Amino acid sequence: MPPISANLQLIRQRIAAAAAGAGRDPAGVTLVAVSKTHGFDFVQAAIAAGQIEFGENRPEEAYAKFGPQSPPVLPSPRLHLIGPIQSRKAEIALACRPVLIHSIDRLKIARRLSNLAQAQGRRLDILFEINIAGESSKAGFSPDELLADLPELLALPGLCSHGLMTIPPLAPDPERARPYFRQLRLLRDDVAARFPQADWSQLSMGMSDDFEIAIAEGATLVRVGSAVFGPREAVISSQ
Ligand SMILES: *Cc1c(COP(=O)(O)O)cnc(C)c1O
Repeated sequence: MPPISANLQLIRQRIAAAAAGAGRDPAGVTLVAVSKTHGFDFVQAAIAAGQIEFGENRPEEAYAKFGPQSPPVLPSPRLHLIGPIQSRKAEIALACRPVLIHSIDRLKIARRLSNLAQAQGRRLDILFEINIAGESSKAGFSPDELLADLPELLALPGLCSHGLMTIPPLAPDPERARPYFRQLRLLRDDVAARFPQADWSQLSMGMSDDFEIAIAEGATLVRVGSAVFGPREAVISSQ
């Protein structure tokens, strides 16, 4: 097992330094440790090192590790769902009891999750995933789609919006991600001015290679996997 505790300590220091460098309060940045593909022993090692927030991209895997049947651990981990949710996985996504779904990427899944949540008397805390670079391979609303769909999205009774999420194009140099992070922040500022009835406080952006740049551009949630837990199998990490 990689040195998860030492990795976490180093990442927390780097987050604090990046926040300070941007004149921000480090408490305004939450580290979501992305445990996808790794076993519960990795999660437990992170919990023992004080980590509470975890991210998973597949509902079934998230349920297996963090669902109500998973072994009780204290302090209780908080699950963030960060991957695209297929319609037929909506029930299991709900059953995971995520504290936040970062990846509402289309109107259809928003409607479906809202209906299911409402039927259970619940309201799901969510972010809208934005395909900020307009990549054909990537999920997410385009900025124009988001603006067009927001009146309906914000009226869905089972969802409660808190902001935006993005994954910039893969690039060898993390600096290449900066303009996309900045665009997400500007889009957030724009929708916050147009739809002031909703909460737009959260910006989920930045991963192992670029979280410091994302923090400089306003990230409030960084999703860090391999820098905490080590490399994943190539076939799975490409998802
Ligand atoms: C896997 C994943 C991450 C973490 O990626 P790393 O490069 O390992 O930090 C972040 N966000 C999403 C949506 C992911 O699927």
